[in-house]
Amino acid sequence: MEKQDIKSLPLSVLEQELGKMGLARFRAGQVYRWLHQKRVSTFAEMTDLSAALRGQLDEKYYINAIQVKKKLVSRLDGTVKYLYELQDGNCVEAVLMHYHHGNSLCISSQVGCRMGCKFCASTLAGYVRDLTPSEMLDEVYTAQRDSGSRVDGVVLMGIGEPLDNFDNVMDFLEILSSPQGLNLSLRHVSLSTCGLVERIYELAQRRLQLTLSISLHAPNDEIRSQSMPINRKYDMESLLAACRDYFAVTGRRISFEYALISGVNDSPACARQLAERLRGMGAHVNLIPVNEVRETGYRRGSRAQIQAFQRLLGQLGVNATIRRELGADISAACGQLRRQEAAAPKDN
Ligand code: SAH
Repeated sequence: MEKQDIKSLPLSVLEQELGKMGLARFRAGQVYRWLHQKRVSTFAEMTDLSAALRGQLDEKYYINAIQVKKKLVSRLDGTVKYLYELQDGNCVEAVLMHYHHGNSLCISSQVGCRMGCKFCASTLAGYVRDLTPSEMLDEVYTAQRDSGSRVDGVVLMGIGEPLDNFDNVMDFLEILSSPQGLNLSLRHVSLSTCGLVERIYELAQRRLQLTLSISLHAPNDEIRSQSMPINRKYDMESLLAACRDYFAVTGRRISFEYALISGVNDSPACARQLAERLRGMGAHVNLIPVNEVRETGYRRGSRAQIQAFQRLLGQLGVNATIRRELGADISAACGQLRRQEAAAPKDN
């Protein structure tokens, strides 16, 4: 029988599973704390369990681990970019950023991505597979262990579309925030999506405390459909309707990501259209000077143009900030390191 991934199981599921093995409920709590608080890598280290029980667990389960394959530290601001190698040899990225309010880790949710956004490096080579809950947890645990500093917040904004890996992401969030795990409040978690409308309705029903970010990047369907294929499936009106529902159900304001691309979506007319569509939603817009990925051909405008766009949105009643760029010297934007690694000649 193939061994099961024990670190991916929420506590309630682990209780059921170990219950089926005839174990008392408190045993599940013990094992869970070894996995998610003490973060051991072998059953042998679970010293308050009998040798027989450790042997039983070892027969049925394995404990996932990931390796730091490459690590780049920004000389500008100390941002750390990790390239992690998963057990099957696939690689994903995470970025640890230091803010005055704490350390935030941007993690990946899939190996590759199938959404096909034209400006994004993560999707260029397509989709390989979903990450398991344990792999997402290990992105966090490994960054903490390697850096020696606590991860205070997590953003699901690395490689992949988190709502395209819905169940695993939900289990990951449950374990991440559980008091017997890392106990990280979902108030310190952001989830970014390109707009899988049905999943946004489903997420609203979970009433989580996290911040939902929508990668909007355009003020109308014509521009959005050119760079984001998902918009041909769910147009902006259906996306914004889902966002209004999310806000009504959860009471949590939505943040809209808008990467400014020179000559594509950065005109004053675009700002006016955007403000018109977002009015009354309590929305916050995060303006991002587009990261120039060689293959995409997209270029960023000048600082002055970006500021003018922000000012205009403000005058029209939409709160907007310009994202501060961290790790500019280590290609910290998502997907870039994994691509470089894949393209690099192999040593052997
Ligand atoms: N799939 C999710 C999360 C991953 S991408 C999503 O689409 O939201 C994280 C964010 O980076 C998204 O807002 C994405 O649109 C943005 N992004 C991707 N490539 C970019 C680029 N070249 N420049 C600026 N932002 C980019």
